[in-house]
Amino acid sequence: MHPGKFEDLDQYELEHPRRPGKPLPGKLFLKDHLDLSGMQVSLGKMPAGKAVPFLHKHKTNEELYIFVRGKGQIQIDGEVIDVEEGTSVRIAPNGERAWRNTGTEDLYCIVIQAKENSLTQDTFDDGIPCDNQPNWPA
Ligand code: ZN
Repeated sequence: MHPGKFEDLDQYELEHPRRPGKPLPGKLFLKDHLDLSGMQVSLGKMPAGKAVPFLHKHKTNEELYIFVRGKGQIQIDGEVIDVEEGTSVRIAPNGERAWRNTGTEDLYCIVIQAKENSLTQDTFDDGIPCDNQPNWPA
């Protein structure tokens, strides 16, 4: 999938079923596009001075917010954390959250959502070296 540059994420919007008629621009969910089966991932863009206008939490999924550019804040259960490029924040399902842009440029983040406590193995426990070598075209 090639959804375009982060700066062009405005072309996508979140149509929340519980917020009809109030689309949130700059949000693209990837699960259905990529047939993801164990996680939901979204790409987000927040223009300068803008904020997610509501708090939300989850039933069973934890979320990882990875900020890739810009400056802003994320609020979790009333605690406000400054974020910038590289900031990675894990939020338990029940945490009430929202984020905003406090900078002068766009703020971009990647949000990964997966069932809390569902990971049974990772990285070197799950990865298996292959006998073949990469075969790149010349
Ligand atoms: Zn969420």
